[in-house]
Amino acid sequence: MIPFAVKKFFFYAYKRGMMKLFGCIFCQMAAHERPAEILYEDEHCVVFPDIHPQAPVHLLVIPRRHIGSLNDLVEADRNLIGHMMTVVGLMARRQGIDRTGYRTVINTNAEAGQTVFHLHIHVLGGRILKWPPG
Ligand code: AMP
Ligand code: ZN
Repeated sequence: MIPFAVKKFFFYAYKRGMMKLFGCIFCQMAAHERPAEILYEDEHCVVFPDIHPQAPVHLLVIPRRHIGSLNDLVEADRNLIGHMMTVVGLMARRQGIDRTGYRTVINTNAEAGQTVFHLHIHVLGGRILKWPPG
């Protein structure tokens, strides 16, 4: 049997290879080069529904500029991240989940299950969310 660490290594090599070959799908969506149901956008960030929703409301808030993950953030990004969190709140209000509750998730790298290497904040709500997450 192939050890998980080996599978993980090949999965990540594959993902990064695909991104080099075809470009970043979220950059393309943010640039309107690929169809997307954009719910909100400004000069810094873009919001669209997750294609495989895990809750009645499942949005992704992404920076317009390509940032691979939280690991790639630098001090100069502090305003951007702060701004993105305010957009999370705005979207929660617009979707009517601010009072009932919602969860924000940022997966980083293999063991957290990151599959798209353009930073994104998941916003999940509209149902009771269990804790701890799987
Ligand atoms: P993560 O696993 O944290 O990297 O999350 C990536 C998310 O992007 C997953 O929940 C996918 O369902 C979602 N996703 C992938 N491709 C698209 C797409 N074209 N449009 C919207 N969401 C997408
Ligand atoms: Zn990108």
